[in-house]
Amino acid sequence: MALAALLIAALGTACGSADPPATKPKGGQGGEGAGAAGALANPAEQQKAALQARIAAAKKWKLAKPPLTAPPAPKTKPEITTRDGFEVEGQEDLPPVFTTVPTEDKVVFLTIDDGAEKDPEFLKMMKELKIPYTAFLSDYLVRDNYPYFKEMQAAGVTLNNHTLNHRYLPALDYEKQREEICGQQDTIQKEFGKRPTLFRPPYGNYNQDTLRAAKSCGIKAVPLWNAEAFVNRMDWREWDRDLHPGDIILTHFRGREDWKGTMPDMIRHVMKTVTDKGYAVARLEDYL
Ligand SMILES: [Zn+2]
Repeated sequence: MALAALLIAALGTACGSADPPATKPKGGQGGEGAGAAGALANPAEQQKAALQARIAAAKKWKLAKPPLTAPPAPKTKPEITTRDGFEVEGQEDLPPVFTTVPTEDKVVFLTIDDGAEKDPEFLKMMKELKIPYTAFLSDYLVRDNYPYFKEMQAAGVTLNNHTLNHRYLPALDYEKQREEICGQQDTIQKEFGKRPTLFRPPYGNYNQDTLRAAKSCGIKAVPLWNAEAFVNRMDWREWDRDLHPGDIILTHFRGREDWKGTMPDMIRHVMKTVTDKGYAVARLEDYL
């Protein structure tokens, strides 16, 4: 116990708190014995320390097992075509819509939508466990507490676009859709200093105008999802009710008013599923 605590303290000093939650393995890149200058330990020792810290963090946050470490980000990004490999006529030049990222890495991606629940414990948990995720924010739920999401961003999470007011977009004309999507682009840029490149339509519903509008204000890709995580279950969209390499998992910023548990409870459940099936959670932005 004492050793684990010491290891965490040492790691905390070495990594600093501004580190992105990427799960790049320590060492093993400088060749045999090369090691980074000024490193405290050799790569094998660093790896062992990182593993110990992961085990300790998993224990602290009551995960069934420590999360698996994702492989390094791919050097060449996978080519993503519209609708999971099926070109849709007239959409060739529009941002691709997909539910799985083509990769053979045993990774899945965690995406968290809306922004209603702002649980400080959740931010702490994800930082300590180094689990990457991507947020899709809807301003009407977020605007009462921008600092919460600023803290999330400072921890390395990318804040993406989920419209201003979470309307059902196919019912709106092109101009109204543009207001919803591009308005949120402007808001995120103004409040968080960075313009999103990813957009997710509310409920996953969109039409041609949605994609045209999204493209017109700088959106590059439209990731949907293959599985949805709740506090006590997963909803699967595929017939085999299983995870596949590159699958995108959806969940929400929700609390006890919406489901029987907390954000950390939801993370414990989804991480058990992911880890039991032998997957690591990777950063979506590393693959796009
Ligand atoms: Zn939503």
